[in-house]
Amino acid sequence: MHQHMKLLVVEDEKKIANLINNGLREQGYTVDVFHDGVEGLKQATSQPYDAIVLDIMLPGLDGLSVLRSLREKKIATPVMILTARGEVNERVDGLNAGADDYMSKPFSMDELVARLRALMRRVTGESISFYKAGDLSMNLVSREVLRGTRKVTLTPREFRLLEYLMRAADQVLTRTQIIERVWEYHFDPGTNLVDVYIQRLRRKIDDGETHKMLQTIRGVGYSIVSK
Ligand code: CA
Repeated sequence: MHQHMKLLVVEDEKKIANLINNGLREQGYTVDVFHDGVEGLKQATSQPYDAIVLDIMLPGLDGLSVLRSLREKKIATPVMILTARGEVNERVDGLNAGADDYMSKPFSMDELVARLRALMRRVTGESISFYKAGDLSMNLVSREVLRGTRKVTLTPREFRLLEYLMRAADQVLTRTQIIERVWEYHFDPGTNLVDVYIQRLRRKIDDGETHKMLQTIRGVGYSIVSK
């Protein structure tokens, strides 16, 4: 069911990182693991994840700084922070910095999986009803899309494609990611379906505008660029 769910784990203790990695993979998740804060932040801002497991004490950049930086960049991916036993202040700081939940080490893998699932459900449970990037806004409830004050009319599939791109505004999505999320099944990778839809969407959003928001990152994918 969650075969396309992708999680990022940032934890410097290799043993714990491996445990989490294996535990999540067993559950069918795709997992990327990084062992320091700088790399973790770079990764979290370069592609969309469904959730992030973030240790607090990390080399390079500590977990709370990573978290603050993500929230400043308006990256709303749910974050589960990991704390050592008794680090009460850090839990409070973590929640203040925008963490969605925390777990103290040592923890059971079953509980971590259960709580990550709950986090991801909360996020996909329509809690987000509005996206904005630059002067492009999209209301998921009224389904109104505006470029500045101009109303943009989209087909349901175009709407879904834009929603996925807006969710990851200023990050790059690959064609494969787009196909899996927007069409939910596997296409012949040679298909130009995504390109066709991107072109249509681009015409509707960017025609007549000075700033072209829907950009092609050659050889990588597509991105909504807010400014
Ligand atoms: Ca650590």
